[in-house]
Amino acid sequence: MNYLSTRNKELRMTPAQAIVKGLAPDGGLLTPAVIPRLPTRAMETMKDMSYRQRVVYILSSYLEGFTSSELNLYAAAAYGGGKFSDPDVAPVMKLDDSTYCMELWHGPTCAFKDMALQMLPHLLSASLVKSDERRSACILVATSGDTGKAALEGFRDVDRTKILVFYPKNGVSDIQELQMVTQEGGNVGVCAVVGNFDDAQTGVKKLFSDEDLAEELSERGYFLSSANSINWGRVLPQIVYYASAYCDLLHSGAIEKGQEVNFCVPTGNFGNILAGYYAKCMGVPIKKLICASNANNVLTDFINTGVYDRNRTFYNTISPSMDILISSNLERMLFELTGRDDKLVREYMSQLSQIGCYRVESFVRDRMQKLFYAGCTDDDETKATIARLWNEHSYLVDPHTAVAFHVLDQYRADTGDDAPTVVVSTASPFKFCDSVLDALGVKERKSGLDILDQLSELTGVRAPAALARLKGRRPRFTSVVDKANMEAPVQAFLP
Ligand SMILES: *Cc1c(COP(=O)(O)O)cnc(C)c1O
Repeated sequence: MNYLSTRNKELRMTPAQAIVKGLAPDGGLLTPAVIPRLPTRAMETMKDMSYRQRVVYILSSYLEGFTSSELNLYAAAAYGGGKFSDPDVAPVMKLDDSTYCMELWHGPTCAFKDMALQMLPHLLSASLVKSDERRSACILVATSGDTGKAALEGFRDVDRTKILVFYPKNGVSDIQELQMVTQEGGNVGVCAVVGNFDDAQTGVKKLFSDEDLAEELSERGYFLSSANSINWGRVLPQIVYYASAYCDLLHSGAIEKGQEVNFCVPTGNFGNILAGYYAKCMGVPIKKLICASNANNVLTDFINTGVYDRNRTFYNTISPSMDILISSNLERMLFELTGRDDKLVREYMSQLSQIGCYRVESFVRDRMQKLFYAGCTDDDETKATIARLWNEHSYLVDPHTAVAFHVLDQYRADTGDDAPTVVVSTASPFKFCDSVLDALGVKERKSGLDILDQLSELTGVRAPAALARLKGRRPRFTSVVDKANMEAPVQAFLP
């Protein structure tokens, strides 16, 4: 199967090329030329499979040129070998007869980014060979926290890749910083930047557009590449867990064959929920995709009105991984909603970059509203939801997941729909101890890693080993650079 650009359907690439390039040359997103349909009995076939087998089953339909035995190896490397603390990888918990929660944070960094970033490096490394790229990839990442660590863990010691992560010196939590600066692996580097996330990101973008640097690195056998969420290799592994959750519900007898379920997804860049849409197109019986936002509710307004307008106040919330005003993966959704009209997509995207705003045609809005429900919350409601879930169900959730639970309540009140619903849980509550303790009414909170014990003692829930292990670890990376000087660490990093 080929991949094409959302801005030009004539442009064609192989899966390996799409993964190596990351982005189409015209700025569009690389998207499968057709979305494969699963065979009629696929859910029953997959029902008795392990998560790793489900990965191979789904991925093989998108990756022509990759053999099943290759995909088996990558799935084993990504999701096996103790990388995930739960043998089910993406276990589904039951809260009540119609409410379930799929936990996507049992990976090495305790956030859902692991689901894709454990797989992408293997796909990329193989794609280099398959597309005759002789050079190695040097991945540069600017991170506000979760992505950097997940990318480091994913690319750690993966063949023909090196990864260098820049984070804002005073823009990440103590735990997040410690997670990154203690990273192990022979091909990794971490560097703090004086400034905020925007400074780090602008600096990385500059490096990507520096042609002299590109030429020089090329002579040394490297090209710069990114691990960001618009790469198809990050969206694809996420489709699997929607099918997997459905199969788990079928397996446990919670639902009957063919019965529709809703998924409620805490959303930022629209990557996670987009994978849910592809799962639905493939034939997973999904009724509604519920798009949950925090106070940065640009998607809520878009889905409810058909107008996307990024000209609004940016809020720093307690669900920081969703503090986003430009949801870049939405472009793939627009491509599908317009009936794959690349010209319309180009128009919307050009209006977005010129005036920060566009309005979709009414048929696009209608289609969108059939597929999605959208709602948003503020920080107080989010905290109240954390407390409610703990008090009523003894179930501890992080703030991102709480946003989704709150919007699910809105959805049910609004529509009266009582179909089984899976809330997608995107981070361990222990990654956001401070907000969770605050929500549970604890005024005096410990600092550093002691806060893990504080939350554990209060709730009797054990902190993930990957976080507890950070205690007493010595930082391996200590360099700090000025934002104007980010080329130096790249030069020093590569042989
Ligand atoms: C990245 C992230 C999200 C948002 O996911 P998108 O794919 O960007 O919509 C939600 N929650 C957490 C914890 C995340 O790290």
